[in-house]
Amino acid sequence: MTQPQEPFLAVDRLSKRYGETRAIDDMSLTIPRGEFLTLLGPSGSGKTTLLMAIAGFVTPSSGSIRLDGREIAGLPPEKRDLGVVFQGYALFPHMTVAENVAFPLEVRRLPRPEITRLVAGALETVQLGPLAARKPAELSGGQQQRVALARALVFSPPLILLDEPLSALDKQLRGQLQEELKGLHRRLGATFVNVTHDQDEALSMSTLIAVINHGRIVQTGTPLDIYERPRTVFVANFIGRSNIVEAELAGREPDGRLALRAGGATLFAEAPADPPAGPKVKLSLRPEKLTVAAGVAEAGAANRIVGTIADYTYHGNSTQLTVETALGRLRVEEQTWRLGFPLGAGQPVTLGWAEDAPVVVAPDAP
Ligand code: ADP
Repeated sequence: MTQPQEPFLAVDRLSKRYGETRAIDDMSLTIPRGEFLTLLGPSGSGKTTLLMAIAGFVTPSSGSIRLDGREIAGLPPEKRDLGVVFQGYALFPHMTVAENVAFPLEVRRLPRPEITRLVAGALETVQLGPLAARKPAELSGGQQQRVALARALVFSPPLILLDEPLSALDKQLRGQLQEELKGLHRRLGATFVNVTHDQDEALSMSTLIAVINHGRIVQTGTPLDIYERPRTVFVANFIGRSNIVEAELAGREPDGRLALRAGGATLFAEAPADPPAGPKVKLSLRPEKLTVAAGVAEAGAANRIVGTIADYTYHGNSTQLTVETALGRLRVEEQTWRLGFPLGAGQPVTLGWAEDAPVVVAPDAP
């Protein structure tokens, strides 16, 4: 029998306390080799503390961190051989671009010709070769970010840690560098661990997302998993926005799905891995999974409920509506071109959704 493979990075029951604050609270997380994992959570949830504990700049109160089977929690940062891109880049202002990138190699006392070769290669990777002799102050934000990246990857570390690497950049540049980071990850084959509070960035760049709240991991999965099958109310609302509908468990279908009653309607949902504790169940229903038709429509989607428009906002390509229904106030997001009728507050509408749209979500831990 083959042994299950040791994960590349394994954080086990890690805690970090600052006085009464539990910055990381008994956290466990495993990351397979070669993934691009993003730690996603609101400000103050413990993302940076976890990243800096992996990097070696924060000493955990308890727990272990194993990298490729080796315990690293007690090692100083320079013995961990990780590439780190810090918030704000932390470039040395008196050194040139080339000297900044050479720094980790100088510390490792590599021979001069080797340093020259590796620095040129790293600068080429981030398309900064022509700017090698400039100082950081003579670079744009995006270029400084690339220098920090080149410095993190110049010694080919198997693990690269990124602390909000794009947060200081404007929106357009951020989009461009997201694509570059993704490409770099594919080309290098290294494992990336990235920190962000930006859900769009997490969804578009990562192969895996770990959602963090109050120093705990609340869900880990692929971007698709996290968005389509949020496990808790917090995840459903932090990644995208959702309608949370209170429902009552009515029974189980022969195919295993749950039948639920809410506002006089019957809804069906996949049974979650952890069955709901009592008859009261919360459902997440994404605004874009609701269709809207004028008046009281009899045909169309598998599930329907009538309501009246309370409010609407035009966003160009999409239109957001708030609709008063027996399920409560529901947010609806519809492609504007699909709305073939003039909107008005108080107007009756029929909302519809596909059978697999509602997802059972657990209440958040206190
Ligand atoms: P995030 O990166 O998700 O914004 P942090 O990991 O920076 O969150 O912080 C987690 C919690 O730990 C916060 O409540 C923060 O105030 C606290 N914290 C972080 N670093 C320190 C520190 N050096 N001293 C005291 N409290 C800290």
